[in-house]
Amino acid sequence: MPENIDVLITHAHLFTMQGKGVGYIPDGAVAIQGKHISAVGSTSELKARFQATETVDASGCAVLPGLIDAHMHTSWAIVRGVAQDVRNWMQSALAPYARHLTPAAALAGTRLDILEALKAGTTTLGDFTKPFPGWAEAFEEAGVRARLTPTINAMPPGGMVGWKVGDLYPLDSEVGQQSIDAALDFARDWNGSASGRITAMFGPQAPDMLSREQLLEVKRIATREGLMIHMHVAQGDREIHQMLKRFGKRTSEYLDKLGYLDEQLLAVHLTEATDEEAALIAQSGTKMALCSGSIGIIDGIVPPMRAFREAGGLVALGSDQAAGNNCNNIFNEMKLTALFNKIKARDPEAMPSWEVLRMATIEGAQAIGLGDEIGSLEAGKEADIILVDLNAPNLMPVLDAPIRTIVPNLVYAASGHEVKTVLVAGQILMRDRQMLTIDEAAILTEAQSQAEAIAQRVAADPIHKNMALLSAMQAGQM
Ligand SMILES: [Zn+2]
Repeated sequence: MPENIDVLITHAHLFTMQGKGVGYIPDGAVAIQGKHISAVGSTSELKARFQATETVDASGCAVLPGLIDAHMHTSWAIVRGVAQDVRNWMQSALAPYARHLTPAAALAGTRLDILEALKAGTTTLGDFTKPFPGWAEAFEEAGVRARLTPTINAMPPGGMVGWKVGDLYPLDSEVGQQSIDAALDFARDWNGSASGRITAMFGPQAPDMLSREQLLEVKRIATREGLMIHMHVAQGDREIHQMLKRFGKRTSEYLDKLGYLDEQLLAVHLTEATDEEAALIAQSGTKMALCSGSIGIIDGIVPPMRAFREAGGLVALGSDQAAGNNCNNIFNEMKLTALFNKIKARDPEAMPSWEVLRMATIEGAQAIGLGDEIGSLEAGKEADIILVDLNAPNLMPVLDAPIRTIVPNLVYAASGHEVKTVLVAGQILMRDRQMLTIDEAAILTEAQSQAEAIAQRVAADPIHKNMALLSAMQAGQM
C-alpha cells in the first residue's frame, strides 16, 4: 500500500545540497507531508512509494532548497535607490530619509521586500530593524521563514543627524537599556512562533553603538535565553575609528578580549577586517554574513570572506538594504560574490558557482543556526523548496548529461525571475508566479504611495538641499 502524503514534486533536476557538493539527482522527486520532507529520490521510486493529494510536475525545472538571506533591513526597500554612488552613505544619503520614515512607511517597505525576496526564491529572511507595529506579523502572514533581530543600540534619537564624520557619537545608556528590554520582550513574544517559522536573534547593532557594559549585558541575556547574537562587525572605517577612539582597540581585538567571539555570534560584513582578523574570528566559531552587493556599492570593498572560510568559518549570504544595494535578491548576491572574489583574487577558480550556491542554502542555514531544519532537501527537514524554470531563454539550453551546466547557469545567468513556485514549511506560497498568501497589487500600490509621501517630506526638509542625489539630478546624471 502506498503511503499517503500531501505533496509530491516529480521529474525535477533535483539539487538536494546533501553531501559535499550539490547532491544532484536526475528525474528527482520530493515527498512532503505536513511541513516536513518525507523522502527524496528518483521519480519512479517515490511514485511507487507514495500517494499524494497534490502532484507538482517539475519537468524542465531545477528544484532546490529555498534560498537564505541572512542579513536584511527590509523596511529600507521603501527608499530603494536613494543611497548609492556616494561616500558616507549612511550620513549623507540615508539619514535624511531615516528622519522621515514613519512606521506605516516602514511596514510598506517590509511587505514590498518580502514580496521581492519570495518572487526571487528567498524563503528565509534574516531581518534586522528597530521594531514597528506589524513588523513580525508581515512575515507570519506571508508564510515565509524569518529570523528577526530587533535593533539594540544606545544612540539617542536622531543619532546620526548633525553628527560629523570623525567625532565620537554620543551614547545614552538609558536608550541602550530601553532597546535591550524591548528586544527581550520581542524575543519572548515571537521566538518559535508560527509553528517555528519565526525565530528571534539578539542584536547589538554594532560594538561601537553600546557601552562595554551594555554589550556584555546583551551577551548574558542572549546566553540565558538561548538566542544567537546578530551584530554588524567591523562594518566600515566609521566603526573602526569609533572603536579606536572610544575603546583603544580595533573591533576584532576588542570583541576577542571581551569573550564575544564564539559560535553564538553571527558577524555581519567584516568590511574593514584584515585577512588575519577574519581568520581569528572564524577560528572562534563565529559565523559570517557576507553582503557582497551592498558592501560593493556603499563601500567599494570586497570583505575578507575567503580568508574567513579558509580558516574554517561558515558563511551565509545577505542582501542588506535596498536604499544602497537596490535589491534584496540572493541570485544577485550569488553572482556578485563569485565575481567580486574572482576579481579580488585575480583567479577565475576562486569561488566557483557550486560553492556560492552552498552558501545560499546549506552553509547559510548552518551559519544562522538552522542547519538541522533547512538548507538541504532530505527526509526530516522542513519543506522549504523552490522550482526554477530552466526553459527561460537565459537558462537554455539545459544539459544534464553527458555534461551538466545547470548550476553555473543558475548562478551566472539567472536573475530570480525564473523562480516559478515556492514552498515554505510545506505550504505553497507562490504557484506559477501567482502569490497565494499576500496581495501583490495592494503591496505595490501602498509602497508607491508611502514612498511618494516620504519624498515630499524629505524635499520640505532643509537638509535636502545638501544631498548628493539632488546634485546628481541637477547635473543630469539621474
Ligand atoms: Zn546591516
